[in-house]
Amino acid sequence: MRIPRGFSDNYDGQERRHESWHDVAQICTNGHVINRSSKKYPQHNNDFCDKCGQRTLTKCEKCGGDIRGEYHVEGVASFGGDFPAPAFCVQCGSPFPWTVSRLQAARELAAEMEELTEEERESLSRSLDDLIRDTPQTTVSVSRFKKVAKKISKEGLSGLREILIDIVSETAKKSIWPT
Ligand SMILES: [Zn+2]
Ligand SMILES: [Zn+2]
Repeated sequence: MRIPRGFSDNYDGQERRHESWHDVAQICTNGHVINRSSKKYPQHNNDFCDKCGQRTLTKCEKCGGDIRGEYHVEGVASFGGDFPAPAFCVQCGSPFPWTVSRLQAARELAAEMEELTEEERESLSRSLDDLIRDTPQTTVSVSRFKKVAKKISKEGLSGLREILIDIVSETAKKSIWPT
């Protein structure tokens, strides 16, 4: 049964509050989500990633704040949909290590695209920073990206997609790689 948030019911003569809370996510430094509910289900925690062998984090390395995980609503079973690793820390705004390393990888890939002119490679590289954030600049960067993308080889484009799809902002994703 779904109980509206903030409602109380009264049984056993005891009033109970239905609290909603964010769990802490455990994610490897490459961005594989190990456990979206590391507090509620600690039995699923791992020190190292089973996909890539990297160590796992539950806290932001910049500010020490918890990495935000699954949102629990008391009395409501969570229906495990997608849980992509967040790109930024909600407590200090820093990009997480996987965001930094994916951006870096995308830049390296862009730098190797021989089908582009030097100018186009730079334009592509510059647009990447804004593709991962939802800012007023995102729309501009999306159109810049699309213009250059027409000249990128199929392999190059699918490489970029693979690296960036999990960290680009919703706005950018809808416009560049609509599902
Ligand atoms: Zn991993
Ligand atoms: Zn932080």
